[in-house]
Amino acid sequence: MAGKDCVKVAVRVRPFNKREKDAGSRCIVSVSSNTVTIQDPRNEQTRRTFTFDYAYWSHSGFTRNRDGLFVPEEAGGRYADQGSVFQDLGQGILENALQGYNATLLAYGQTGSGKSYSMVGYGPNKGLVPTLCERLFQAVKVNQDNRQCQVFFSMLEIYNEQVIDLLSKGGRAPGNLRVREDQQRGFYVEGLRKVPSDSATQVEQLMDQGTRTRTTAATHMNANSSRSHMLIMIQLKQIFSKENLTKQSNIYLVDLAGSERQRSSGSEADRLKEGTAINLSLTTLGNVISSLADAALGKKVVHIPYRQSVLTKLLQSALGGNSRTVMIATLSPADICYEESLSTLRYAERAKRIQNKAVVNESPTE
Ligand code: ADP
Ligand code: MG
Repeated sequence: MAGKDCVKVAVRVRPFNKREKDAGSRCIVSVSSNTVTIQDPRNEQTRRTFTFDYAYWSHSGFTRNRDGLFVPEEAGGRYADQGSVFQDLGQGILENALQGYNATLLAYGQTGSGKSYSMVGYGPNKGLVPTLCERLFQAVKVNQDNRQCQVFFSMLEIYNEQVIDLLSKGGRAPGNLRVREDQQRGFYVEGLRKVPSDSATQVEQLMDQGTRTRTTAATHMNANSSRSHMLIMIQLKQIFSKENLTKQSNIYLVDLAGSERQRSSGSEADRLKEGTAINLSLTTLGNVISSLADAALGKKVVHIPYRQSVLTKLLQSALGGNSRTVMIATLSPADICYEESLSTLRYAERAKRIQNKAVVNESPTE
């Protein structure tokens, strides 16, 4: 039943922000069907084109409708809105999870490039996660013969290689949780709160709570939340009584730390500690992706360095293992971001090569 499937990669280009507009920025990125072309602003002749599973033009051609939604200016326009991104990326994740596969969605890109907009969204422009939850609960509520469903929601942050439970109950410090390894489950976070959930509204409240905790924790540690990784885990358990069968899937939804080279405020000591630790999770993720990409090309790879960081431990099955995985890489269109955008495109190109081996997780009901 194990089929090999590659990590699906999508790239999305956002509108100019105020800073870029004020600087009179030039757009150096273009999108044509599923390819993205980037031009070196100092050299007109230097262009690079990359091909992905999906490429989204969300830079221009949009308007804000009465509900405050960003939508294409005209029917059939090329602006990719939240709905069309969900249709391509979120729907598949939902279907995979319902079939019993593990599914992962990662957002990668420099700070301010649109990771959180795509993943979580702002205001009425709901991103992949809330829409996924809405559809999940709709699907779960459909009565199917003998099927009983349970959904558990968890949310955590990785900062400086520390795991913080973003949903820890009031009074209890969010703490620094341990990552442990189990023969069957692989790596998991010990003592992480898993909230039984039965509606999208409830999950939205949990996400708000988590986001608030993240902000408070950041202030407390005098940290910047763009340097931390946010992970949402949804566990779906489907019990089929007639067949005496249980299907279980884990959905990981990850808003990664900004990919830009880290600059730090704070003291020299903080800077050093933070710099190495953050680089540890993001650098290790990069190393894992590169090793897996090399392996897929037939190069001899002895060792995939999953164990070197908390993030890659938790994402082990998502990268080269038992999961169907999607990455959305977000880009600024501006000339001033050329280096970062090019580096994001190269990263995304490597991720595309990773081959996973997903299986339906089913076992006799205990
Ligand atoms: P990141 O999480 O990568 O740091 P954000 O998602 O917060 O970046 O995006 C930065 C700003 O750009 C936000 O104000 C957001 O509303 C806007 N933005 C990002 N992507 C889009 C998009 N596809 N369409 C419209 N606005 C966007
Ligand atoms: Mg963000």
